[in-house]
Amino acid sequence: MKRSLSSFLLAAIVAVSLLADDVERTPRNDWTENQLRELAWEIHDNCLTLDTHMDVPIVLKRPGFDISKEHSWYEHASQVDFPRMKKGGMDGGFWVVYVGQGPLTHEGRAKAISSGFEIADLIHATVEKNSDLAAIATTPEEANAIRKSGKRVVFIGIENGYTIGRNLDLLKDYYDKGVRYFGVTHSKNNDLADSSTDPEGNLHMGLSDLGRAAVEECNRLGIMVDISHSSDKSAWDILELSKTPVIASHSGCYARYPHPRNLNDALLKEIAARDGVVQMNMFSAYMMDVEPNKERSEAMRAWFEKYRNGDALSEAEQIEATEQYVALQKKYPKPLSTVSAVVDHIDHMVKVMGVDHIGLSGDFDGGGGVKNSMDIGQMMPVTIEMLRRGYTEEDLEKFWGANVMRVLQASIDYAATLREEAAEE
Ligand SMILES: [Zn+2]
Repeated sequence: MKRSLSSFLLAAIVAVSLLADDVERTPRNDWTENQLRELAWEIHDNCLTLDTHMDVPIVLKRPGFDISKEHSWYEHASQVDFPRMKKGGMDGGFWVVYVGQGPLTHEGRAKAISSGFEIADLIHATVEKNSDLAAIATTPEEANAIRKSGKRVVFIGIENGYTIGRNLDLLKDYYDKGVRYFGVTHSKNNDLADSSTDPEGNLHMGLSDLGRAAVEECNRLGIMVDISHSSDKSAWDILELSKTPVIASHSGCYARYPHPRNLNDALLKEIAARDGVVQMNMFSAYMMDVEPNKERSEAMRAWFEKYRNGDALSEAEQIEATEQYVALQKKYPKPLSTVSAVVDHIDHMVKVMGVDHIGLSGDFDGGGGVKNSMDIGQMMPVTIEMLRRGYTEEDLEKFWGANVMRVLQASIDYAATLREEAAEE
């Protein structure tokens, strides 16, 4: 039954009719701000709107944090909660099980594994506690049903393959906990692959054998493989190996700003050719040159040194850490990029990949945000700017959710095909 698998893949590739997008979009220069806002709201009200990368659990761990209450970035250093999602016309998105890269030792891996599952459980406990406001989704169908019920949609993704150590069986456990994308690396190399930003350079020259097996296991289970944070070579290896389209859950364009976290045009094209998506990352430092600010850097470093061992801090110390962080942000405001620059990246992606292959992530609670769009309640400025530049309602429906849901569905369908074949044998 190998034939049906290869024909599945072929169909997926052939389905990508137009890669480069030569569509002439007519800017709505004569529209008033109110007209643009009205249409933006109509679009957000009528389609599934998802942000594919939110580091919510980092904030959920703070003592006393209640996600059912409205917060703000400037007063609480928080960028995601249910009231702001609703106020900003966002249905939800992917919450991320993130574990920072530690040593590649038995002890380091064991710690990463237990932290990862703790975070996944924290996500479930939070959603259960707020079951009147939100529900977990694992398929596009579930997401649409949750949206129709008026609740917020919570998908789960993993950021950093370190969360499974070297134990591939854990991918199934994560799948059972609802995880539907797997970010292979974070800011440093791990056992699976090389990162785009490890100061030590390459360790495996791309994917390791274990990383290859992890990609195959994700395909088998129906988990999307996420190339954000992976080195170019790792990303190419993943693209070549994966039987289903891949995602970049939060990445920008190298052609717009040459940062190793951004994707070059050749990679963008290949992701699109394999029917994947790139979710533009609203992370200011990956979008512009920042004037060095010695005082801010030193203050941030001192804060980090004092509080970095978050799990070992007492409750009072954790509260103090947040208060100090908020005070620091006020004293030394973070240099921010703009919504217009975000849409410049999007324009470039659309030109290179076509409008079927893009989406958005704020990287909120993980360092993301630009001027006038510093939390999940402030996504409307992006839609307004895209409308101003001539994007259609159909474009925006794809951008805000349909594209990434197509990739998720392809992963689910592929896994189902494998299961059917196994049952026939
Ligand atoms: Zn990240």
